[in-house]
Amino acid sequence: MVSEDPTTIISKASWVIYWDWEKNRHRYGRDLDVVFKGNTIQYVGSEYRGKADRRVDGNGILVMPGLIDLHCHLFGGSVDKGVFDDIGAKALYGHALYTYSPLLQVWEEEGEATVEGALCELIQSGTTTVVDISRNYPGKMELLDRSGLRVYVGESFRQARWIDVEGRAVEYQWNEEAGWEGLSKAIRTVEALGKHPSGRLRGIIMPAQADTCKADLIKEAFKQAQILDVPFHIHAAQTLIEVHEIVRRHGMSPIQWLEELEVLGSRTTLGHCIFVDHHPWSPFRSEEDLRRLSRYGVTVAHCPTVFARTGMTLHTFGKYRKAGVNLGIGTDSYPYNMLEEVRNTVLFARTTGRSVFDTSTSEAFHAATVGGARALLRDDLGKIAPGCKADLVLVDLSHPSMQPVHDPLRSLVYVAADRAVKDVYIDGNHVLKDGRLLTLDWATSKRKEQEVQNAVLQRVSRLDPKGRSILEIAPLSLD
Ligand SMILES: [Zn+2]
Repeated sequence: MVSEDPTTIISKASWVIYWDWEKNRHRYGRDLDVVFKGNTIQYVGSEYRGKADRRVDGNGILVMPGLIDLHCHLFGGSVDKGVFDDIGAKALYGHALYTYSPLLQVWEEEGEATVEGALCELIQSGTTTVVDISRNYPGKMELLDRSGLRVYVGESFRQARWIDVEGRAVEYQWNEEAGWEGLSKAIRTVEALGKHPSGRLRGIIMPAQADTCKADLIKEAFKQAQILDVPFHIHAAQTLIEVHEIVRRHGMSPIQWLEELEVLGSRTTLGHCIFVDHHPWSPFRSEEDLRRLSRYGVTVAHCPTVFARTGMTLHTFGKYRKAGVNLGIGTDSYPYNMLEEVRNTVLFARTTGRSVFDTSTSEAFHAATVGGARALLRDDLGKIAPGCKADLVLVDLSHPSMQPVHDPLRSLVYVAADRAVKDVYIDGNHVLKDGRLLTLDWATSKRKEQEVQNAVLQRVSRLDPKGRSILEIAPLSLD
């Protein structure tokens, strides 16, 4: 019963990033009380006069809305850590995706530790909502539920597998029926999660990639997302390999093709979306894709770190934003550190845009909160305001990495990152207390992750067509 929900007050927080509905943006407040009852924020203001069951001293604390990781592969992502950071296929724009990633096979029964490890890192870096696009296995929903996080589960499906041709081409091995079966399964998952008692687990509809699904499947998937009223998510304009393939098949850019399929809309999120027509590497001699994305209210899930490791990024974050494209931020694979993604968003935008004015700290923070919430069709996430969900991050202003504090968000984003994240509440529940996870076991999951990585790397020579060991394929950074 709602009336029995406890009321918690974070009393006189030194700094609060609250939402100003009138100005439609985050703002700083000083010495404010933040009060939540059950899973909902009740009050943000200078003096709460009601009674509270729990009191948290806000002195020396920044209270900010939890971050939304809009694009994340939880299963197996951390197994790649340290393996392919310095290599890629030279003739495939340096991507490791097609040639090397398939050599790291995580078995279903091995995956749990990698998922738990990733969830730990997300919470510790102030993430309260994650869109997980990765393999599901028996027991995964129980783990997601136990973590306390708000999770949108993307049961992704596709009709083609990428076949690497000795690092010089990518071919497509089609199984159309598998894609249709995948969509049916995804619909069942969305329906089942809609009834989940936590209210924190939900589904999305996600055809995996623009180049691995046929037109009729993508169209039907979008229709089902509309019927189920859930977000629609697809990797698009992710690599130039995909762009060239869509040009070969349809004679247009992936964005133009998705427009033709009538699947661009405010429930649509495009994963990565780097190689739009104006990108300097693209084959197109037009600059129309951003206007298309803006016209339909599409969101781009920007994952700066993973792609920057391959020398690629949006041209530019600021240019997308100025064109009116909604932007969210994701981690994709490791590191699962959303605060570092916010930092990298700003740094890469300014480097690529050759200007300090390309993207501000507040614009990147907006994307990591409200931008992601919009993509998830949620008005009650990513904001500190009465009526919004109590997804709160408490940052320790006295942490040496935050000091000296002039502007706490800048200290957090450019220096301290996860080191200063002290407490996290999700849906009103305390999940991180004084830097310690209350719902998950970081040490044990990391120990198991090491065992999984060892096993996965052992198997590489059997999967490699030339029978090479992992160190022959990808030597250590120093010999
Ligand atoms: Zn992805």
